[in-house]
Amino acid sequence: MTTPYYLYDTELLKKTLDEIKKGAATIENSFVHYAVKACTNPKVLEVIRDAGLGIDCVSGGEIEVVVNAGFDPSRIMFAGVGKADWEIQTALDNNIECFVVESIPELEVINEFAAKKGKIADVCLRINPNVGAHTHANIVTGLSENKFGINMADMMEVIRLCQELPQINFKGLHFHIGSQILEMDDFEALCRRVNELQDKLDAAGIHAEIIDVGGGLGIDYEHPEKHPIPDFENYFSIFRNKLKLRKGQELHFELGRSVVGQCGRLITKVLYVKNSGPKQFVIVDAGFTDLIRPALYGAHHRIVNITNTDDDMETYDVVGPICESSDVFDKDVRLSKTKRGDLLAILSAGAYGEIMASQYNCRRLPKGYTVDEID
Ligand SMILES: *Cc1c(COP(=O)(O)O)cnc(C)c1O
Repeated sequence: MTTPYYLYDTELLKKTLDEIKKGAATIENSFVHYAVKACTNPKVLEVIRDAGLGIDCVSGGEIEVVVNAGFDPSRIMFAGVGKADWEIQTALDNNIECFVVESIPELEVINEFAAKKGKIADVCLRINPNVGAHTHANIVTGLSENKFGINMADMMEVIRLCQELPQINFKGLHFHIGSQILEMDDFEALCRRVNELQDKLDAAGIHAEIIDVGGGLGIDYEHPEKHPIPDFENYFSIFRNKLKLRKGQELHFELGRSVVGQCGRLITKVLYVKNSGPKQFVIVDAGFTDLIRPALYGAHHRIVNITNTDDDMETYDVVGPICESSDVFDKDVRLSKTKRGDLLAILSAGAYGEIMASQYNCRRLPKGYTVDEID
C-alpha cells in the first residue's frame, strides 16, 4: 500500500450511525442530514447512504457527488453564502429538498432561475443567531461579524420577500453556529435564540415547517480511543429538552465531523529521523497537503507508531516534507522509539482530512481505503 493513505473503519462508522439514529429517534419528526463536506470517500458515503441519512451540501459539486452516490436528492439541503448560477440550476434540476438562503440577492436569483424552469423553490432562511461557539476562530460561523446567514433584525423582511416572490416557498429557519463544539451551553444558547425567533414568527402569524439547527458537534481529538463515538445522547437531549417546537414542525440536524471524524486515520511512513540541536524530528511522507487541519487551525491529532508499539517512548516533532514551516503535525510528541520505515497513524482524521487534500508541491493526492480492503 503506497503511503500516505487514509484508512476508514466502517464498523466504527456503522456503530456511530446507530448511535445517531438512536438519539434522533427520541425527538419526534427529526431528520439527520450528513454534512458531506466532511468526507466524500465513496465507501464512507455508501455506509451513510445505507443508514438512511439525508445530505447537507454546500456546493454544486457536492450535489453531483451525492446524487451519483445514490442519495435521494429530495433529502438534500443546500447551504452556502455564494451559490453560483450553475449550482442553483443544478439544485433545481435535481429537485432538492430545500435551498438554505443566506441573502436577499441570492433569494432573488433563485426566484429568477426557478421561474425560467417553471419550478417552485423550497427555501429555508439561514439566520445568523449571533451565538458564539467556543471553538477555533476560523470555525465559528454564528456571530454577526461572520459572513454567514441573514442578520436576525432582517428576518421578517426577508420572510415577507419570500412570500412575495412567486417561485419561492418559505419552509423555515436554518442555523449553523460553528464546528468542533464541545460546550453544550453553546447549543443551549442556540435553542434559546430559536425559541425567541419562533415567538416573533407566531406574533406575525407565520408558520415555519422546518427548524434546522445545523451541525457542529465536536469529537475528542485528545482521547480518541476512550471516546470513539461522540455523546449523541446528550447532544440530542439538549434539543429535545430546550427547543420549543411548534405543532408538526420538523427538526433537522446536519452533522459532519461527529459522523466520520473518529472513523478515519491517516497512515504515513517515516522517511527519516533527524537529530537537530535539542530536537528530534520525525520526517514523514505525509504533509499538510494530505491533512491540513494542524496547519490551518492549529488542530491537534493524536499520533501513534503502529510498527513499534513498545513502551520505550521518546519525544519527537512530527513533520512533513513540504517546503513550508507550518508543515508540522505536532511538536513534542511521545512516540515509541521510531526509525525509518515505521508506519505512524494520525488519528481522528476522518473529517476534513482526505477531502481537503491538495496537490501543492505537485504531490499526489492520498488514496482512501477501508479496513477490510487492507486485511
Ligand atoms: C460544515 C457545515 C455543517 C457540518 O458541520 P460539522 O461541524 O462538521 O458538524 C453543517 N451545516 C452547514 C451549513 C455547514 O456548512
